[in-house]
Amino acid sequence: MKEECGVVGIYSLDNRDVAPLIFYALYSLQHRGQESCGITVVNEKFATQKEMGLVSEVFDFEKLTALKGSFGVGHVRYSTCGESRIENAAPFVVSHSLGYLSIGHNGNIANSAELRKGLEEQGEVFISTTDTEVIAHLIVRGLIRTGDIVDSIKEAMKKLNGSYSLAIATDDSVIAVRDPLGIKPLCLGRLGDTYIVASESVALDSIGAEYLRDVEPGEILVINESGLQSHRGASRGRTAHCMFEYVYFSRPDSILDSRLVYTVRERIGEIMAEDDHVDVDFVMAVPDSAIPFALGYARARGLPYREGLIKNRYVGRTFILPKQKARELAVRVKLNPLITNVKGKRVVLFDDSIVRGTTSARIIQILKDAGAAEVHMRIGSPPIISPCYLGIDMPTKEELIASSGDVEEVRRKIGADSLKYLSIEGLLRAIGKDERQLCLGCLTGDYPVPLEQHEQVKLVEYIK
Ligand code: SF4
Repeated sequence: MKEECGVVGIYSLDNRDVAPLIFYALYSLQHRGQESCGITVVNEKFATQKEMGLVSEVFDFEKLTALKGSFGVGHVRYSTCGESRIENAAPFVVSHSLGYLSIGHNGNIANSAELRKGLEEQGEVFISTTDTEVIAHLIVRGLIRTGDIVDSIKEAMKKLNGSYSLAIATDDSVIAVRDPLGIKPLCLGRLGDTYIVASESVALDSIGAEYLRDVEPGEILVINESGLQSHRGASRGRTAHCMFEYVYFSRPDSILDSRLVYTVRERIGEIMAEDDHVDVDFVMAVPDSAIPFALGYARARGLPYREGLIKNRYVGRTFILPKQKARELAVRVKLNPLITNVKGKRVVLFDDSIVRGTTSARIIQILKDAGAAEVHMRIGSPPIISPCYLGIDMPTKEELIASSGDVEEVRRKIGADSLKYLSIEGLLRAIGKDERQLCLGCLTGDYPVPLEQHEQVKLVEYIK
């Protein structure tokens, strides 16, 4: 599974240049997308710099100091929709008869292909293959007709089906929009007279801003020289926050809907310890995301926590090895066992999820090759049985190991001595929300947005 994208919007009421602030905020959101990144700032004119690559590779002191403007938006991208190429990099800038609009999007629009077809039939021309451009066209068409940006966003929200957290720069404002179900995260912070909206609160921390609150599902937040104005865009009578943001995607030091992610993950470990009595020597984790689960579990059971695998932190996105043998090698280069810790030991091994099962099987084999006597696999999420259509890059249903086999079959395939997943009930307890507040689509096949079978097939083709 791959993370999606990260967005940032900053407006300085005291006219400071915001490009360096956007840079640091994007730096802290790098885990949400490593293919391309970009910044737009506005100083009467729009100035945009975007390229393929990491934030630290794309921006240097010269480029940042050339970007002058007291408000703007930034984006880090991993392509869940549209190919990985510079035309699809964001922020996406549109010139129209009333001015300009620059937009960064995190999420996935399920009816994007249909909307795009309709717009093309009405004469719109597209220069990218992203759903972000579809959103931009919808907003600009409404803006030209009504002259009101908030009304045009409200109109667009009525047509959009899917997940979207948006950071938009217009000629005089920064606007944050969160879809009515709040599927993707978006929060608001303040640093003196500077407002910041960002996908995760770690972006606020990176510039020393105070976390104020999450942007509400369906909310349109406008920030300009008059300050902050909140508008209600759309409502669905429920929310559907992506449960995987808590389990895996968001950084553990982020606050999501007023909950610290690290605490939720520790709680998952504690809940999994409640009915688990397997006899082991110590508890360990696949670094880094599974560490809080293992710590919570070990503490609750009074067992020692130890490291058994060391992660090579310099295996980057360029480490692409297509052949099976090369992929096996990739896991070995990324994770090396601490032989003296694991040799002859019975261990509980935590990971955040099992997708195809191939990585879990390789990790278990690495530990067994290092002399581990027993490896009891514990997974901090329930089984993934269905793909995500809302912004996470996942394999097809057929490729998901849990979609066709029960827990015992998965255990056998990955070579674990025992296997337990977090239950859906345990997940809800750990996050402190009920099933009407979370998206559980990939766990149940029941999605919070209407997705007909033919739309799902089309969407998979469109995303690929
Ligand atoms: S389907 Fe799964 S990964 Fe996708 S938004 Fe819903 S919970 Fe998140």
